[in-house]
Amino acid sequence: MELLERCALVTGASRGIGKAIAIELARMGAGLMLVARNETHLNNVRSEIERMGGTAVILAVDLAKEESWQILQRRLAEEKTHIDILINNAGIYTTDYIDVDQTPGWDSASSQAWQQTLAVNLTAPFQLCRTLAPDMVQKGWGRIVNISSISGKKAETFGSAYSASKFGLIGLTQSLALELARHGVTVNAVCPGWVETDMAKDQINDPEWCRLNNIDLEESLDIARLSVPQMRFIQPDEVASMVAYLCTERARGITGQAINICGGLSIT
Ligand code: NAP
Repeated sequence: MELLERCALVTGASRGIGKAIAIELARMGAGLMLVARNETHLNNVRSEIERMGGTAVILAVDLAKEESWQILQRRLAEEKTHIDILINNAGIYTTDYIDVDQTPGWDSASSQAWQQTLAVNLTAPFQLCRTLAPDMVQKGWGRIVNISSISGKKAETFGSAYSASKFGLIGLTQSLALELARHGVTVNAVCPGWVETDMAKDQINDPEWCRLNNIDLEESLDIARLSVPQMRFIQPDEVASMVAYLCTERARGITGQAINICGGLSIT
């Protein structure tokens, strides 16, 4: 119970990696605020945490919308809750590219995908850090973990918005780590490779993504799996274990890092 009396906010906690992180932090004693859009899924995660003897509150908001910061601030004031641990995990992937054979420049669909991806993957983490870091500084203790990607270190083909957002998230991590280092607040990024979640399945099963990458749809799953030196998909709980470790007192010397969990898929 290393995180007893700590309160953690996890975005994208309704499923996938975020759900695994929330459950792992609860197992270590932290109280949870679970954030995502789907209220039913959030309630299911809350019930699972309560069955384990933990506590959780939910906040169903769309992090792409600016109003979500105000809603969050109001809710924290109502609950009289101080967040010690912020996990910026919510994210979306969009296949996008500049159609060099067609109209010059971007069509409105590409532009919308860019804006939505940057809003969820980069602007929301920035706003949440801005909202919650001052309280951590005042307490002299805090943990921020941003879920980036190995695509935040080496660009992804036909996923420029995603790569840009994940590179940006590592930049934000490094800047904030330097700013907050003297205040007892650590800021790190975790960079997964292929993790077995809806996001990875949707990408691998997307005919457009397969077409662009010259991959046969039927073989796509095996190609993705075999591209990993460990020849397997990472499980969400493996990411959760690293995130939870970064939130402990034992990890107080680790800040400004971007740690891969990818079965060897990237070694940079
Ligand atoms: P996932 O299964 O698709 O889950 C995404 C989570 O984000 C869900 O809880 C979703 O909840 C939430 N979310 C999405 N848009 C949101 C919005 N506008 N407002 C609030 N919440 C939103 O994805 P995952 O694989 O667990 O990914 C988690 C993180 O890991 C992401 O940042 C992703 O980029 C990163 N990552 C994943 C992989 C992979 O292979 N899976 C690899 C590298 C990095 P609702 O739908 O309920 O809103």
